[in-house]
Order: sequence, then C-alpha cells, then structure tokens
Amino acid sequence: MQRDYGYETRWISPQEMQHWIASPRFHSGIHDPKSGHLHPLKYSLGLAAAAASLGVKIHEDSAVTAIQPGRVARLRTAQGSVSASHVLLAGNVYLQGIAPVLEARVMPVGTYIVTSEPIDAKLIESLIPSGSAVCDTNFVLDYFRPTVDHRMLYGGRVSYSTATPMNPAASMQRRMARSFPQLKNTKVEYAWGGFVDISMNRAPDFGRLSERLSGPERSDWANVYYLQGFSGHGLALTGLAGKLVAEAIAGDAERFDTFARIRHRPFPGGKLLRTPALVAGMAYYRLRDLL
Ligand SMILES: Cc1cc2nc3c(=O)[nH]c(=O)nc-3n(C[C@H](O)[C@H](O)[C@H](O)COP(=O)(O)OP(=O)(O)OC[C@H]3O[C@@H](n4cnc5c(N)ncnc54)[C@H](O)[C@@H]3O)c2cc1C
Repeated sequence: MQRDYGYETRWISPQEMQHWIASPRFHSGIHDPKSGHLHPLKYSLGLAAAAASLGVKIHEDSAVTAIQPGRVARLRTAQGSVSASHVLLAGNVYLQGIAPVLEARVMPVGTYIVTSEPIDAKLIESLIPSGSAVCDTNFVLDYFRPTVDHRMLYGGRVSYSTATPMNPAASMQRRMARSFPQLKNTKVEYAWGGFVDISMNRAPDFGRLSERLSGPERSDWANVYYLQGFSGHGLALTGLAGKLVAEAIAGDAERFDTFARIRHRPFPGGKLLRTPALVAGMAYYRLRDLL
C-alpha cells in the first residue's frame, strides 16, 4: 500500500502485539490509522433520511419482478409499475431472474455475526485497547470489534453452499472464544447473517446491461446500470459505487467507467454446478488457511 499508493500503515511487531490485542492467535499485524468503523444500520437510515430530505420517495415491500427496457424503462412490481429514464440494479444477490445475464458473474456467500452480552468495561478494553476493528489475514477470515456499549461484535464463518448453518450463534461463540479465551463463558445475545455477492476475481462488477448483451436489442438496455460483486469489500465501496453511478447518470461517466473496464469471468459450471464447484474450490482455500 505504501509503495504503490503512498498510503501509510503501521507495522506491529511480535513484541508489540500484546499491547494491541490480548489474543494468543496473532503473531504480528498492521494498523491502519486512517480507517474507522461505523454502525451500518445508522448509516443506512442516515442515507435514507438524506435522500428523503431531497424529495426521494422510498417504496418498501415492492420488489421489482420484471423490467421492460426502452428509452423510458418500465419496472413491474406485484402491485403496479414505475417508469424511469434510468434504472440502477443494486440488489446484491437477491435479484433472481430480473437480469439473468448478470447471474453467473456473482455467487452468494453467507457470512454471520454475533454480538456478545455486555462485558465488564475493564475486560473489553483490555482485549483491544485501541478499540480498533480487527480482521485476520485468512482467505476465510474472522472480523471483530468492541462496541460502544461494551459488547464484542464478532463476524466470520462463511457458507458457500447458501445453506444456513446449524446454530450459528453457538459456532460463532466458539470462534470468538478461540480468539479471546477470556470470553469462553461470555454469552452471545444476538446472531444474524446474510449474503455477500462475490465475483470470481473479488473485484467489483459495475456496468450497463447493454455491455453484457449482444444482438440488436442491446441498445435498449443502455440506461440500465448495475452494481454488484462487492465481494465483502462492503460499505465503503457501496457508498463510493453509488456516487460513481450518480455521476455517470448525470453525464460524467469517467470514474464509473474506470471500474466498468475491470474484466470479469463468469463462475464455471452453469446454473446447476456453479454452487458445488464453488464449495469445492473454497474447501481448498480453507485447507490452505488451516495449514
Ligand atoms: C453478516 C454480514 C456482515 C457484514 N459485515 C460487513 C462489515 O463488517 N463491513 C462492511 O463494510 N461490509 C460488511 N458486509 C457487507 C455489506 O453488508 C454489503 O457489502 C453491502 O450491504 C452490499 O450493499 P448492496 O447495496 O449491494 O446490497 P444490500 O445492502 O444487500 O441491498 C440490496 C437491496 O436491494 C433490494 N432488492 C433486492 N431485490 C430487489 C428487487 N427485485 N426489487 C427491489 N429491491 C430489491 C433488497 O431488499 C436490499 O434492500 C456484511 C454483510 C453481511 C451479510
């Protein structure tokens, strides 16, 4: 990062490590002093409030079921339809059937988070004295941070098969206790999960549907943009993506097209074998993590 982008981070040597994290799992680390962490629900609600204050109408419980393309596109829902000069598909992996041409370019990967019960303030401060958000360097990684109300927020464990794991709260508690044996008897109070959309090369996949289609009808889809393949890069990138697509729709597509030029390959195996192929491929990387 420093060599290629002039972005400075701080190396934490094995001798210093104990002052950063009270865990037997970590040998050394890197601290990024310019990054932070945030409460994603508050962020989402803030964005929605900002949009509403500018006159944007938000319609919940009205999933789009089909798009009729054209200079003015028509989006159908179960109850009605909406006409729009520009359309943005930003539905993560949940857009089943709306744009089949995009489907093989991303795969759903389940990830899970738990929140512990409140922990004694002194204990939680001793675990990560800087209060930083932490992630490990495994391919299938764990990520965690203390919250302002003295809980441990601990994420990790992935499901490539899209099946919900049995009792994610108990297995995440074990993962948390592996990093912090001090929390062996600390209860998990909340557990939840969802899907992230990974692309084959783990780079974001932005573009216009017309770029993905061939044949004379492709130009009908030039005003339908899409943003997907966030691959766990998450909220920082989704915010940036929204900004870039807004610039493109307003007439300046330079920054959007920088991303749209990234080449992507579809996941192999066709509709039926894509998931088993991914499960097998990821088992290999998990084995490498273990070794
Ligand atoms: C458990 C978990 C932990 C995570 N932890 C982190 C983290 O620590 N840091 C981080 O940066 N990121 C994290 N992420 C990733 C982050 O949440 C995602 O990258 C981000 O939410 C993707 O944003 P998005 O807008 O593409 O999709 P989403 O936030 O999933 O939004 C898609 C929206 O499209 C809507 N939609 C879908 N289909 C339709 C349709 N047909 N019609 C109308 N609307 C539709 C959905 O209802 C939804 O509101 C985590 C994700 C999970 C699941």
